[in-house]
Amino acid sequence: MSELLKEKLGYDKTFDCVQCGYCLPACPTYETMEKETHSPRGRINLVKMVAEGKATVEDLKEPIEKCLGCMACTTVCPTNVQYGAIFEGAKEVIDEEDAKSKPRKLVEDFFFQSFFPSSKWMKSLGNATWIYQSSGLQKVSRRFGLTKRAPLHIHEFEAALPSMPSPKKRKDRASRYVRKRPAAAKVGFFTGCIMDSVFFESNQNTMELLLRSGAEVVFPEEQTCCGALHAHSGKIDTSIELAKQNIVAFEEEGFDYIVNNAGGCGARMIEYDALFKSGTEWHARALRFVSKVKDISEVLVEMDGLVFEKELQRTVTYQPSCHLRNVQKVENEPLELIRQIPGLTLKELDRPEFCCGSAGVYNIVNYEDAMDILDVKMKDVCGKNPAGVVTSNPGCLLQMKLGIEREGLSREIDSVHLVDLLMEAEPKPK
Ligand code: SF4
Ligand code: SF4
Repeated sequence: MSELLKEKLGYDKTFDCVQCGYCLPACPTYETMEKETHSPRGRINLVKMVAEGKATVEDLKEPIEKCLGCMACTTVCPTNVQYGAIFEGAKEVIDEEDAKSKPRKLVEDFFFQSFFPSSKWMKSLGNATWIYQSSGLQKVSRRFGLTKRAPLHIHEFEAALPSMPSPKKRKDRASRYVRKRPAAAKVGFFTGCIMDSVFFESNQNTMELLLRSGAEVVFPEEQTCCGALHAHSGKIDTSIELAKQNIVAFEEEGFDYIVNNAGGCGARMIEYDALFKSGTEWHARALRFVSKVKDISEVLVEMDGLVFEKELQRTVTYQPSCHLRNVQKVENEPLELIRQIPGLTLKELDRPEFCCGSAGVYNIVNYEDAMDILDVKMKDVCGKNPAGVVTSNPGCLLQMKLGIEREGLSREIDSVHLVDLLMEAEPKPK
């Protein structure tokens, strides 16, 4: 095997794995698929074998494509194996092999190079969905079961979508919200692609919470997709270009915080420094960027500027986003905020660390496997008998809505973003 392939696969890093198996009980795909090759230990071993020429890239494909990238394994590994780097390296090598198929490459190039990084495309998607929902088309297609004929289980995801805001409401959002009094902090808001198109209201609520906490909020116009989906699909070069664009977009204003409300985006952005060689100018710029990246829950707890006035007399549970918990290591802040709401009862899950099966586009491309994982999650959720599931990532939100629908509990349980729950509790400045 060439040295370049070994380097891409993270061959050196595979030796950190001592094959102890502590990660096996933490891995959702090992639990539901019951195969050694679909465990963290098995995947690392396969990568090593491919690098040594004892297995082929083809052998690696299925086990790696069935990995959620949830990083639960990294939280229990005693030798601190860099599984994320090994996983992304394997994805890149598989992607290069797949790129030999031209039709697939054309479709992927459109999605990863034109669709996700483009705010115009994302706004158009949101606006088209608004037309679909508000024109009566949605009712007609549901009545006649038209969406059921769509591929990739689209009808199930469509049923889980929230109501979209009108194009006017999107257009009316300013790029800067300044305070009359001196601001307690200057915040650059990272909007995210899916959050800003599908969960626009949650982004508005995030901004409102920041303003009421005493911050000034700016939406840098040149920001783009965080690059997480690209990296998880092996498009490392594109993900580096996107990282550079975001670093530049947030660099000039002198922000105290770069805030996001999507676990997956935040996890990508706090690792931007790992994309560049240590000692280079880009590495230094990435480090400055990373030092300011925070999840909204961290900033709200740090600013401590809100008091919640409305009692919410119900029980909720909290499903942490894997990337928020396992990569950003933000565990307590969301719980702390939920506990501040008067009247609300929080019942924590027995296995909060277990992925819900969303994992970017995993639930679309590996639907059956994702549903097996979701079923395990829903058993835990239903055991808490909640009226709401609180989470903080667009993928988790849709997946939990899907799980609730599948259980036939959509009248009893709702799935909400943390910021929407906080706004419902009528926060006032302290
Ligand atoms: S816990 Fe870490 S060292 Fe042990 S088998 Fe898993 S990856 Fe390897
Ligand atoms: S990232 Fe998640 S699914 Fe993949 S090996 Fe680790 S625990 Fe298993």
